[in-house]
Amino acid sequence: MIKQAVILAAGLGSRLGELTKNMPKGFLQIDGVAIVENSIKKLISVGVEEIIIGTGYKAEFYENLANKYNCIKTVYNKDYEKTSSMVTLNVCKQFINNDFLLLESDLIYDKIGLFVLINDERSNVILSSGKTYSGDEVYLSVNNNFELVSVSKDKTKIQNPFAELVGISKITKNTLNEMCNFYEKFADIKIDYENVLEQISRQNLADIFVRKIEYYAWSEIDNETMLQTAINEIYPRIKENESLLNVRREILLNPGPATTTDSVKYAQVIADICPREREFGDLVKWCTDELTNFVADNNKYTCIMFACSGTGVDEAMISSCVNTNANQKLLVIDNGAYGARLANIAKNFNMNFDVIKSSSYEALDINVLENAFKTGKYNALAIVYHETTTGLLNPLEIICPLAKKYGLITIVDAISAYAGMPMDLEKLQIDFMSATSNKHIGAMAGIGFVIAKKSALETIKNYQRKNYYFDLYEQYKYFVDNNYQLRFTPPVQSFYALRQAILETKIETIQKRFERMQKCHQILLSALENLALECLVKKENQSGFITAILPPKSNKYSFENLHEVAKNNGFTIYPGKLGNIDTFRIANMGDIKPSEMQKFTLILEKYINSLN
Ligand SMILES: *Cc1c(COP(=O)(O)O)cnc(C)c1O
Repeated sequence: MIKQAVILAAGLGSRLGELTKNMPKGFLQIDGVAIVENSIKKLISVGVEEIIIGTGYKAEFYENLANKYNCIKTVYNKDYEKTSSMVTLNVCKQFINNDFLLLESDLIYDKIGLFVLINDERSNVILSSGKTYSGDEVYLSVNNNFELVSVSKDKTKIQNPFAELVGISKITKNTLNEMCNFYEKFADIKIDYENVLEQISRQNLADIFVRKIEYYAWSEIDNETMLQTAINEIYPRIKENESLLNVRREILLNPGPATTTDSVKYAQVIADICPREREFGDLVKWCTDELTNFVADNNKYTCIMFACSGTGVDEAMISSCVNTNANQKLLVIDNGAYGARLANIAKNFNMNFDVIKSSSYEALDINVLENAFKTGKYNALAIVYHETTTGLLNPLEIICPLAKKYGLITIVDAISAYAGMPMDLEKLQIDFMSATSNKHIGAMAGIGFVIAKKSALETIKNYQRKNYYFDLYEQYKYFVDNNYQLRFTPPVQSFYALRQAILETKIETIQKRFERMQKCHQILLSALENLALECLVKKENQSGFITAILPPKSNKYSFENLHEVAKNNGFTIYPGKLGNIDTFRIANMGDIKPSEMQKFTLILEKYINSLN
């Protein structure tokens, strides 16, 4: 797995004259986006976690970009005016800790090239193409084994050039060390990294292979002519090639699984791996740390995963966190289908519990809860953060601290709230919280997890075991003792998708995601107002993640018809029934853009108007 990329971006770009007088060449725009930003998006989409940019000329442009993408780290080559690309790479070296992709900053390229390098079995691979006739070719020659023999811009110096250098390579940490050692001995500040690779290969200090894609769509942009050709000929080819891999877009407005990005879908296409390998354990560990980080301090909280849907992990949590032997008693709050489900789980485990039932569309009465806590009968509270049935958000910032005040363990189903809104488990005083891979985090279904306070986990250690697979403490212990392997077969590919979804969440940030959801919600609310449709839950109690809408009064209305009209336009909506109240539900979850919600409201409007 390649987690880092380095972009060499210190150069002056002097051959572009006026065009780069005020900016580095990576900031030339094509189709309204800086070429380096386009490159960064591609790197992120293939799972690169960190992008190190070696800067020099007008470094502030890259520093601004790093403010926009928190996965970017800039490193300044202060001698950029006098030095070449190898010096910039040498400056970046201290931050590179494993195999990485090395790129030049002035490239436009088909993303498939990154996929090819990542999937090449060999560890040092230079990407190359057939003839470009660009006028500024760097020719490569190879031996019978496709190992690099020479690199030159001068065709007469190369017998039988095999291919042209693209400017994207996959390099190991060891090879980087060799390159830097060579450079330090050679001490030529004008040497380019590709010439160092040539020397390393010739001296057999590393095996450097050249991988050729004959008709690869790419261009370097070194002068105005190249820029024009890039805009008029090459960029359209790249765009077309990449669009051929787009997955048909279906926007899920149902309350999970949520719409995923194509990069999350494609993250599942990976080399087969036995989940007992160290590399897989590292992946799981990384996921647990990052998922915890979104809501808590990893020193105090930890994340335990199971292969299951959300209900599975609710079952693990409820059944593992209350001690039946000690006759502990659980209080369950039921103000919707999911709260009722928590009570059902307790019932199925023959637990000692009471239920407080409350309206699924009106705010909970905190006094009723406090009176129950006060009785001293209860050891634990189980409650849903966001009731997906109606979109009602329970005020856990009041309820959980209150429960703790009376000594209850707090068990929260946050499945449809987690990663959709900022939350701080310590401040909320939550001991155990459940979530899944397929809701706001935006990955594939199949992974349920509990984020638990470590000290609370220790208290459940000797509780009576009620089940085998879904035992929270056993799973936790196995994680810790076995380098974060799951006890039983995990959904391997779903974990790679989860990793990608976490990367994308970190880049967007949960705060910004929350704002995006609220924006979609506002668009929906104003359309509903125009159509005189009412929401089931009062605005002040709505989460904005799910909107339960009362159907129009017209007897021509049918959910099935509305569903079909929406589905034919690429939107999936969901019914909702509360006792005898019919609703239809619209979720804001996952990869949905405000413009798409806008489009949906037009479809809704057209349908509603057709009922008159
Ligand atoms: C989605 C959801 C669940 C879990 O449902 P599954 O179908 O088992 O994944 C549990 N609780 C809430 C609040 C949910 O929104």
